[in-house]
Amino acid sequence: MNLNIIEPNYFKHFHCIGGECKQNCCSCSWNITFDKKDYLTVKNAKKSKKLQELCTHAFRRVKKSDNPSIYAQMRMTEEGSCHFLDDNGFCALQKECGYKVLPDVCRRFPRQYFTYLNSAEQYLSTGCEEVVRMLMNLPQGIELTNGTSIGNNKSFTSTLSIQTMEKANSLPFKYYWDIKTLLISIMKNRNYSVEDRLILLGIAFKHIDELIVANEGDKIPAYIDGLIAACADDKSMLDDIKDIEPKTNQNAINFANMFKAMSDLNTMPRNFYKKIQLSYGISYEQTEDIEHFTIQISYSKIEKQLGFLFNMLSGREYIIENFMLNAILYLNLPFTDTNMSFWDSYIFICQVYSLMLFMIAGNLSETSDDNDIIEAFVIFSRCMFHNKTLRNNLLEFIKSHKSTTLGSMVYLIKF
Ligand code: SF4
Repeated sequence: MNLNIIEPNYFKHFHCIGGECKQNCCSCSWNITFDKKDYLTVKNAKKSKKLQELCTHAFRRVKKSDNPSIYAQMRMTEEGSCHFLDDNGFCALQKECGYKVLPDVCRRFPRQYFTYLNSAEQYLSTGCEEVVRMLMNLPQGIELTNGTSIGNNKSFTSTLSIQTMEKANSLPFKYYWDIKTLLISIMKNRNYSVEDRLILLGIAFKHIDELIVANEGDKIPAYIDGLIAACADDKSMLDDIKDIEPKTNQNAINFANMFKAMSDLNTMPRNFYKKIQLSYGISYEQTEDIEHFTIQISYSKIEKQLGFLFNMLSGREYIIENFMLNAILYLNLPFTDTNMSFWDSYIFICQVYSLMLFMIAGNLSETSDDNDIIEAFVIFSRCMFHNKTLRNNLLEFIKSHKSTTLGSMVYLIKF
C-alpha cells in the first residue's frame, strides 16, 4: 500500500550530529529495553572480537518480565553511557554491523511514527538537541508537509496505528484530521499570545469531550469549522478571562513538586538538578508523615529567573509556539492514550507549558546564551515525553488536587 507521508517542514533537514552533540542520547542513563527479535538480531550479528566483548557488557536478558517488549535491557556504564558509544560520540555497533542491527528504539530515536489508514505521520522529539536547535531557528513556525520517506528504514514501529475502517470510524478517531487541523490552527494563530492560544485549545477540547459524552460526535466538524472561523477575527471568547492575574508563586510550588518527581525517577542529570534547585532556592523538608514534605522556594529568585527567560525570548516567542506544537504532534495528543479524555490531554499540555517555562528559566543567568535554553529543553523533554510513569504521576497529582477546571488551567499557564 502506498502511504501518504506527512511530516513537519523541518523533518527532512534533520540528521544526527553524533560526536558534535553535547547531550548525546546514548549517554543520558535511559532505561532502554527491547524485544526478543531485536535481542537476537544484535546477538547473532557477525562481529569482531572487540565488539563481541563489548556485547557481553552492553546488554542483559530480563528473565522475569511478562512484557514481550522487555526481553532484554541495555546496561549502562557507571557514567550512564551505552557501552557501544565510542570516544567520537558514535555507536560502535552501528559502525561495524550497520544501522539495521540496532534495536528499534535506537534506530527510531528521535523519530516517532503514527499511521492512520493510508497516511503515515513522522515527527521528531525535542529530547534531541539538534531537533531543539532546528525549532529555535524556525521563525515561520511548523507546517505539515508531504514527505517522501519513513526514516531510513521502511520497517518502522508505529506508536499509534489506526488501520481498519471500523477503528477509524469510532470516536474520537473518526475526526482525527479535523481535530488535528483545529489544534494546529489554534497553536499557530499569532493573533493571540501562546497563553491565549492554550486557553482556546482548552475551550475546544472541553466542548469536544462534552459532545462525545452526549453522543453528539457528529457535531464535532461543524463546531471545529465555527471555532476556527471565530478565532480568525474575534477575541470576545476570551473576554471573561483576560483580566485574570497570574499566580506565579503558586505555580512555582507546582513546579517544585513535579521537579522532585522528575528527579526521583532518575531522569535528570544531577548537576542540572542542583543548578535549578540553587537558581530558585528550592529545598524540600520531610514531614513526620514519610509520604509528605514541605517546600521552600525563593519568590525573588523566581522573578529574577523568569526575567532572564522573557528577556531572552523577547521577539522570538515563536520558539515556545514551535516547542509546544511539536510536543503536541510528537505525542499525538489528544490521541495518545484512549484512557485519557481530551480534557486529560489538555491538563497535560498545560502542565508541560508551565513546567517547561520554569525549567528553562531556572537554567539561565545574566551570561546565558541559547545553549542554556537548548540544554533545558532537551532535559525537560527527556523527562516529560519519554517517561510514561511521570506523565501518569502528573495527571494523578493534578486530579488529586482537584485543580482540573478551565479556570485552574488558566491560572497554571498565566505568567
Ligand atoms: S541527541 Fe540527537 S543529535 Fe545528539 S546523538 Fe542523539 S540523535 Fe544524535
